[in-house]
Amino acid sequence: MKRRKKKNRKSSSGNFHVSSLYSLPLHKTDRELRKIQIKEWMDVNLPPVGSKEWEDLCTGCGKCCCDKVWRGKKLVALASFCKFLDLETNRCSVYKNRFSYEPLCSQIDAEIIEMGALPEDCPYVVDLPGYKGPLVIERTMQEF
Ligand code: SF4
Ligand code: SF4
Repeated sequence: MKRRKKKNRKSSSGNFHVSSLYSLPLHKTDRELRKIQIKEWMDVNLPPVGSKEWEDLCTGCGKCCCDKVWRGKKLVALASFCKFLDLETNRCSVYKNRFSYEPLCSQIDAEIIEMGALPEDCPYVVDLPGYKGPLVIERTMQEF
């Protein structure tokens, strides 16, 4: 018997009927889901980003301004710091324009938190369930 090739054809409603669908990545990855959870947690538990209350949460410890590298999927916090951090005061010397001076400097948001870029005692994450900060090692960027 002659086999007929199956063709894509229009369905009766006029929509194009695709006989074989590829499985599309319609579900979110674990990281995307975690970011959504973090964002929801932030909306409930933290003041609006950029507000005075938000800014006041920062203790100025300067720990988040350390150099960081990825080791596999884990962020590693090094013992050296961004060149704009005043090591005497732990304050950023270009705070108002920090994002234009330092391309690697980022606003704290769900993505940064999901990466684990903040130390675990940072007030922005200290109460976030399951939060894990970076692996801290006593080596500078030069020694790494
Ligand atoms: S780690 Fe947290 S508290 Fe310390 S400087 Fe960074 S944002 Fe502020
Ligand atoms: S530019 Fe960003 S990372 Fe560098 S010291 Fe300032 S706040 Fe910290």
